[in-house]
Amino acid sequence: MARYFRKIDDDMILCELCPHHCKVPEGKHGICGVRYNRQGTLIAEGYGVYPAIHLDPIEKKPLNHFLPGSTILSLGSVGCNLTCRHCQNWSLARSKVHGNDILTIDELLLRAKEKGSIGVAFTYNEPTINFEYIMDAGKRLRENGSKVVLVTNGYLEKDPWNDLMGIADAANIDVKGFTDEFYADITGGSLGPVLGNVETAFNRGVHIEIAYLVIPGLNDDERQISEFLDWTHGSLSSEVPIHFNRFHPDHRMMDVPPTPPETLMRIRDMAKEKGSKNIFIGNITRMGWNDTFCSFCGKKLISRDGFWAPKMKDGRCRSCKNEIYGVWR
Ligand code: SF4
Repeated sequence: MARYFRKIDDDMILCELCPHHCKVPEGKHGICGVRYNRQGTLIAEGYGVYPAIHLDPIEKKPLNHFLPGSTILSLGSVGCNLTCRHCQNWSLARSKVHGNDILTIDELLLRAKEKGSIGVAFTYNEPTINFEYIMDAGKRLRENGSKVVLVTNGYLEKDPWNDLMGIADAANIDVKGFTDEFYADITGGSLGPVLGNVETAFNRGVHIEIAYLVIPGLNDDERQISEFLDWTHGSLSSEVPIHFNRFHPDHRMMDVPPTPPETLMRIRDMAKEKGSKNIFIGNITRMGWNDTFCSFCGKKLISRDGFWAPKMKDGRCRSCKNEIYGVWR
């Protein structure tokens, strides 16, 4: 059975897991497609349903300052509570639950330590709509010495988000744009709850990195990027890693061209001028765009262009001993 819902009347349930607050009639799903009203009870249909299971580099999440160089068992389920026109994982995000194959938590505990994995990343589709499984599995994974990572859109109500932050070691959280209009028109959600949840994660001590997919003409203007950066500096820290990722046409947004490299360079330069310390450019291969530099002396600490030799010791720059934001061992 799902958590965070209440019955409104004999036929109708109010789901209170995410800000949509879907009213779900008998025999129907909420917007996410995995929470279902069965005879007056909300069922979490995605519980333990993970059709996509891979062992990934942690950098693929992307997390560049969380145990770099490690691998993590990565699970993807189906459904999503946002309806992004540009979704790049739509085959999972727009699917419903089929079949009854459940990954039991005992099995997950074993697999989480296979082949050197540091733990489990809940990723690919939106993981938080499988709230109940992550809470049940996450607690046991932590007890078992495994890391718990979320790759999420951050669009959840405060109370369940706080629950998740109690078991997460790290999270990559999307900020998809920086206006209410963008969120309403392109994602079907709203910006405020996402920003509040990123701040909560940071203040609770969860290691966070932010992903911002740069879409030409929609969220790449100077004002939007500038306000986003100002928020990261004022409400979080200039050290929080930000991944500005290149857009490719996908799903219901085939009419917008890929992000020009010049746009990504302009944004990277703007971020550096404003004082952001850890800026990465993703979904495009360019020498040095994913390297980590010391935020004090500027020395290159981690090269991600193939040759793997971090110039760090105990989370500090080997040259000037400056402490670098992140989790290093
Ligand atoms: S979790 Fe799903 S059912 Fe619940 S409010 Fe959000 S979209 Fe609706």
